[in-house]
Amino acid sequence: MPRITAQTALFLDFDGTLVDIAAQPDLVQVAPGVTDLLAGLHEALGGALAIVSGRKLSDLDHFLAPKLLPVSAEHGAQFRLGDGSLSQAASPNLHEVSRVALALAAQHAGLKVEIKTTAVSLHYRQAPQLELLCLEAMAEAVKRSPGLELMQGKCVFDIKASGVSKGSAIAALMGQSPFAGRLPLFAGDDTTDEAGFASVQGLGGEAIKVGEGHSLAEHRCASPSELRQWLKASLQDLQGVRA
Ligand SMILES: [Mg+2]
Repeated sequence: MPRITAQTALFLDFDGTLVDIAAQPDLVQVAPGVTDLLAGLHEALGGALAIVSGRKLSDLDHFLAPKLLPVSAEHGAQFRLGDGSLSQAASPNLHEVSRVALALAAQHAGLKVEIKTTAVSLHYRQAPQLELLCLEAMAEAVKRSPGLELMQGKCVFDIKASGVSKGSAIAALMGQSPFAGRLPLFAGDDTTDEAGFASVQGLGGEAIKVGEGHSLAEHRCASPSELRQWLKASLQDLQGVRA
C-alpha cells in the first residue's frame, strides 16, 4: 500500500470503499470510529481530504455527520469545499430517463430508483435477473436524452451528464486549495472509480482498488475493513510525525 504523507491530497470513495455495500443504499452501516478517523485525517492533511462519490451530497452528510467534509457528489457534478462553498455543473434534462426508470420500477419488484439533482440511479441489487432489461431500457432512454450518458456500477445503472466523472472531479479539486500542489491518492472499489484512478495516476499520484476485479489502479486492498485499518495506521503515522 502507498504511504499517506503530510503532502498527500486524499480522495476517498464511500460505498464499498469506506463502508461495506448493503442490500439497499440507505442501509449501509458506518463502522464506529470512521467519522472520527476521517476528521483526524482531514485535519492532519491540512484540509486536503475529500469524499468522491456518486451519492447525493445530503446522503454523504447524513452518513458522515456531524463532520462536513469536502465532497464531490453525484459522480463529479457537485462540489462542496472546505469553506462550505457549493458548486454544481449545469443540471441536465433528466425527464426521459427518470420516466423510464420509474416505469420499470413500477412494473418490477426489487428495482429502486434514485432521482438526484444531476443524475438518476436505477438499483437492481434485489433483482439481479433484471440487469439486461434495465440496461436495454436505460440505454434507449439515454439515446433520446442529449448530454447524458449511462454508466454501470455494482448492481446499479447511473445516468449522468456526459463530461463529468470522478476523474474530472479529482482534477477540478487538484486545481484548488488546499489540494493544489499535493500528490493525489484515490481509493475506490467500482468501475465508476476507474476514471479517478486514471486521473490521480496521470498526475503522478497513486490509486488503490478495494476488492476484486480488473483495475487500472496500481495498489490493491481486499476490503473496506482493510482500507480503514490502513487509514487508521496512516493517521497514527501522520500524528507521530507532527508530534
Ligand atoms: Mg464505491
